[in-house]
Formats: sequence, C-alpha cells, structure tokens
Amino acid sequence: KRLVVLGGGESGVGTAILGKEKGYDVFVSDFGKIKESYKEVLIKNGIDWEDEKHTESLILNADVVMKSPGIPEKVPIVKKLVEKGIPVISEIEFAAPFTKAITIGITGSNGKTTTTMLTYHLLKSAGLNVGLAGNIGKSFAEQVAEDKYDSYVLELSSFQLDGIINYKPHIAIITNISPDHLDRYDYKYENYIASKFRITMNQTEEDYLIYDADDEAISEWLQKNKTRAKLIPFSLTKTFEEGAFIKNNTMEATINQEEFKMETESIALEGKHNLKNAMAATSVAKLMQIRKATIRESLSNFQGVEHRLEKVLKIQNVQYINDSKATNVNATFFALDSMNTPTVWIVGGVDKGNDYNELMALVREKVKAIICLGVDNKKIIDAFGNVVDMMIEVQNMREAVIMAQRLTEKGDTVLLSPACASFDLFENYEDRGRQFKDAVHNL
Ligand code: ADP
Repeated sequence: KRLVVLGGGESGVGTAILGKEKGYDVFVSDFGKIKESYKEVLIKNGIDWEDEKHTESLILNADVVMKSPGIPEKVPIVKKLVEKGIPVISEIEFAAPFTKAITIGITGSNGKTTTTMLTYHLLKSAGLNVGLAGNIGKSFAEQVAEDKYDSYVLELSSFQLDGIINYKPHIAIITNISPDHLDRYDYKYENYIASKFRITMNQTEEDYLIYDADDEAISEWLQKNKTRAKLIPFSLTKTFEEGAFIKNNTMEATINQEEFKMETESIALEGKHNLKNAMAATSVAKLMQIRKATIRESLSNFQGVEHRLEKVLKIQNVQYINDSKATNVNATFFALDSMNTPTVWIVGGVDKGNDYNELMALVREKVKAIICLGVDNKKIIDAFGNVVDMMIEVQNMREAVIMAQRLTEKGDTVLLSPACASFDLFENYEDRGRQFKDAVHNL
C-alpha cells in the first residue's frame, strides 16, 4: 500500500517512519522546504521525498494520505485527493491502530498545553510508563514505532481532530471553547465547535469525556448532541456528585464515588483558569487510579509551562510576568483576572477579530497603564484610551519593557499578555516571550 505524507515536519517525518516500518511504500511531499535534519532522517530510513513542490503523479496514486495539521483543506492538492476519494487523515488516525497503549486526548481553545503537561506530570510522577505527544515534542507516530509506552497524553488541535475517522481517546478533555482559527472553518463558529467535539465521536460507554461545565459553547453542544462517553464535568461555580469543583477554597474531585480534596492554596499554578486545568488533570489522575498523595504532591510542585503566566523576575519589588502565549482575548482575560496588584499591561500584535469589550471591567479594575506593542494599535487605543490614565505606543520589546519599568512603583506587576498573534514584530510567540525575558533581565 502506498502512504503519501503531505508535510515534512515533525508529524510528517514520524508518520513516514512508522509507515515504512509497517511495510508501506512511503513518499513525503512538502510544498515548502524540508529542514535539513528531517531530510537526513528520511534518507537514513530509505524514505523517498520531495520538497518545494507537489508532484501530482507521485501523490494521487496513494492509498492513504497523511496531511500535516498546518496544511489547510483548501489547498489544490488536498482538494484533488478528496475528489478522487483517497482518505486524507491525520497522524493520530494513522498511528493509533498500531499501538495498544491507551490515549488521553486533550483539546480546547486555551489551556491545551498546560493541561497536557500537568496531566503528563501527574501520571509520570505516579510511575506510569507514559508518553507525551500530539502538538507537543516528539511525533506520536514515531513514538508508536518505538513502542515504548503503555499510555500517552496527547495535545490535540482541531486540525488534528479534523483528520480522524476511527480514532478515539479512552479519556478526552475539552478544556473550553472560544472563537479561534475561524479562517480555517469558513468563518463559522459552529464548524469550529463541531471540530473540537470530534474528539468524542468514536468514544463508547467505557470511555470518558472531561469538560468545562461553565463553558457556554460546550454546554450547548452537549444539550443538542449525544456522546456515548461517561461525562465528567468540572466547574468553578457548580458542584457535582461526580466531577470536579471548587468549594470553600478547596478543590474537590469525586470520580467513581471516590473523593479527592486539596486546598486551592497548595496548588502551584495560579489563576482561575489554572484551577480549571488542575481539575481536568486531577480527574484524569483519579480515573487512572493514581494515589491521592501523589496527586497532591504533583499539583503542588508543577511549575507551569514557559510563556504561560511565567514569572520572570522581581526587580525592586515589581513582578514581571511573561504570558506571550496569550494570543487571544480569552487567554488574556484569565491573565488579567489573576493579577493581584496594579498592572502595567503590554498588549498588541496581529488582531484576530478581537472583541476588547470582554476585558473592559478587568482593565478598569486592575490596569494602571497600557503599553501598545503592535504595528497597528488602533483597536486597542479606541477600546481603552479613555479607560486608563496612561497609554503609550512603542516599536519593539526593549522599549516596551523599559517604558513599563518607568511606569511602575513598588508592588506593581508588569504583564506581557498580548491577546494577539505575534507575526507583525516577532517570529512567533516563543520569540516574543524570549525577547521579553531578555529585556527584563537587561533592566
Ligand atoms: P493552548 O495549548 O490551548 O494554546 P496553553 O496552555 O498554551 O493553551 O495556554 C495558552 C494561553 O491561555 C496562555 O496565555 C495561558 O495563560 C492561557 N490559559 C491557560 N489555560 C487556560 C484556560 N483554561 N482558559 C483560558 N485561558 C487559559
């Protein structure tokens, strides 16, 4: 059988390796340039490839095609494959049948990486033989080829879920849903929501769906549609007989009638959104029968993930926080919400159709000054110009951080939480976060 892999990145190369090992005739095609290090791996494994083109005669004869998540469905080669009736699937769909390991699949608009890393930390600390993959780190398919793990925690984007047919996670998490990536969904929010819920479409009665019961889009979908999985809700405001919730500053999770309790104060991650992430991860740990003492210890020592409300330094009693991964309004909402002292807020970048009204009350309450760091700051200035005492525009990160320091007094916080994508002034959000940290260290 012929396996054609579109995209020669981490998931593409991993899928090619697994396909080759399983006896497929494999061909990798990338319209852009394949990184030298990946080319070397392909050559070493005797896998044919091309880059900077798609040769139709070598692609349209496939029995199955793995499309990397970054490639939109609309590109001509994918359309042609679909017209010919050739299955176009994702890495997870291709690889999952080759492993007996159970998978925990985590999706949502925000909080995927944090929840994935925290869940992995909980299971690994408990001594489980668990792998980490999906949008993070090493390709899932390549790890399946190595056959090392009994279970995997997978971060799943909606693009990966769009390419599944039979895949089901034993435990699924939907962290939350808010509008994002609508350009890939014909600008229809309902299509994006439906894409997220594909995570549960093949689940059966033995499987679990853990979800945010405070989330409007999720609740609405669950009212109108069916899943066969057992439902495990979590909430900041409601309580459940089965599920996770917060009551009297304590996190409680009752799963299969067994109770786990922990004071929220002892959970290392800060902010309400992180309590949600902690409830989701704890629910998984309970389902996997991890001991209470281990869960408690792991929740109290997990230090979070880089660029997500990451504490950088305290200088003259001013705390600098890097939340560069906040590329939408919802993420920034929770960042501002978790600020406890007057905040100088660095915001801006490429706007994805942001509605800043959602932040208005928090900005009034918490923000003393705004530093606009984007090529086009008009929307931010229009939204908050009359709300804060001080608002300035800067051209680069160094300037942003120096200005921020000038505007602070002892006890304040400087928060980089852009609510926007980074591509106007930076390579990506990691580059933006690193430049922020460098500038802070240089103060
Ligand atoms: P994702 O992988 O889904 O992009 P991350 O864990 O990388 O999620 O977090 C992205 C941004 O969203 C960060 O700014 C983070 O502080 C914020 N965030 C994390 N968890 C949540 C949540 N449950 N709800 C809203 N925002 C969140």
